[in-house]
Amino acid sequence: SEFPENSYIFSTYAGVEKTLLNKTIKQPLVRLIDSEMTECMAEWCTAHIMRYHLDIDKFIKRKSKEWLSITKERPLAYQVSIGILGLGVLGQATASKLGKLGFKVRGWSRSEKKLSGVISLSGEKGLNEILKSSDYIILLLPLTNKTREIINKRSIKLLKNGVKLINAGRGGLIEEASIINGLDNGKLSACTLDVFNQEPLPSSHPFWNHEKITITPHISAPTRLRSSVKSIIENIKRLQKGKTPIGLADKQRSY
Ligand code: NDP
Repeated sequence: SEFPENSYIFSTYAGVEKTLLNKTIKQPLVRLIDSEMTECMAEWCTAHIMRYHLDIDKFIKRKSKEWLSITKERPLAYQVSIGILGLGVLGQATASKLGKLGFKVRGWSRSEKKLSGVISLSGEKGLNEILKSSDYIILLLPLTNKTREIINKRSIKLLKNGVKLINAGRGGLIEEASIINGLDNGKLSACTLDVFNQEPLPSSHPFWNHEKITITPHISAPTRLRSSVKSIIENIKRLQKGKTPIGLADKQRSY
């Protein structure tokens, strides 16, 4: 081991799929759980939901000077279903924020959760139920062998027509070609993508030119220096008291 003196390694990232593959790390790996980062992610996802929910682009980002008359009533939050894949630290915070705004929120995880105002589902059946009935899908899963390309041709087929997809987890959660196909055949009406298989996203990538895709440069919840250092120190204090650190990654399940 390159770190023989250390009993634990603390990551400064929440996603540790690459670090877990590092064979020089023999010690237990602790991923970053930080309340400010969590809040950051919940705010970011909520903002992108609200952008679509209020049709902000249509009414604000107009190039013409046309006075758009409203043709139909827009739905209110309580009439809208949001499915969050990944109901961990970030997914739960996002679910709670959207729930407080009145949205119907369902989340999917390996183990079922007891959360107020959020329906928690698991397993293939739970996944299918969320895919079939959501107006928005938010991806906040870690990237593992089980979650890789979880959004693919099959899962997109199950969606209602016109679903909007927000990916803040990892690029590998979506199968890129099926996203473009889904946008072109109307299963998906828009996507906001913050994470990609290759970052920075190459300038030749077809995502850049697709008018229904919004790209952000992996900025949904960056590590925040002060609060993350505080969180790591708190975790070291737990260790010193003989407690297990929060956010211990599991090499077996790879998150
Ligand atoms: P957590 O480990 O707290 O949450 C992960 C969630 O995914 C858990 O609910 C877990 O289930 C669920 N999950 C994992 N595997 C499966 C599976 N096979 N089937 C169903 N559910 C599954 O992680 P965080 O919420 O802290 O972070 C999530 C991811 O967000 C990170 O792994 C990282 O990739 C990404 N991220 C992106 C950032 C950005 O800036 N874009 C910033 C920070 C993180 P269970 O609860 O049962 O364990």
